[in-house]
Amino acid sequence: MREFNVVVLGAGGVGKSALTVRFVQDIFLETYDPTIEEEYRRVIEVDSVPTSLEVLDTAGAEQFTGLNEVYIKSGRGFVLVFSLTQEASLREVDNLRQQIYQIKGGDTSIPIVIVGTKLDLVSEREVPRSTIQSLVTKWGLPFYETSAKRNMHVLDVFEDLVRQMVIRYPPD
Ligand code: GDP
Ligand code: MG
Repeated sequence: MREFNVVVLGAGGVGKSALTVRFVQDIFLETYDPTIEEEYRRVIEVDSVPTSLEVLDTAGAEQFTGLNEVYIKSGRGFVLVFSLTQEASLREVDNLRQQIYQIKGGDTSIPIVIVGTKLDLVSEREVPRSTIQSLVTKWGLPFYETSAKRNMHVLDVFEDLVRQMVIRYPPD
């Protein structure tokens, strides 16, 4: 079975852990220690092919510790997370996106998925679909609106990433 490691990155509180835990354990954690960094594993079948994913849920103050660079160097696929309820969290996604391309030596074929979280919090939404749509079109990256709480489109994110990684990293 093929194995890929995936890194989940984004500003604090956007729902990285909730998304990861929903994908890996199919539960919703209302509160999760924001400082916990954890690596999870799940086998996912995409297009009838099982693939083992190692998912690193990053935490906290990476931007100040230089840890992001370590994660990005070792990561093969990236989930860049912002909250649909927090416009400012989009900027961190753009920063991370640029950092990834820079660290990967300008390789723009690196598998990346952009994720907007907390889709269920309709009345708190700050980022209109049109705003993010024009951004991801410019970036040329796939985008999913998700809710870890209601389990909406979480699996789509990881399936998309697996399809990208299978193409980007052919077996030897
Ligand atoms: P992280 O710091 O990026 O790992 O964020 P967390 O996963 O710890 O989530 C931060 C807060 O947002 C927590 O209170 C979660 O319960 C909440 N949250 C995360 N995802 C969702 C979601 O899909 N819907 C709702 N309503 N709340 C969410
Ligand atoms: Mg977390």
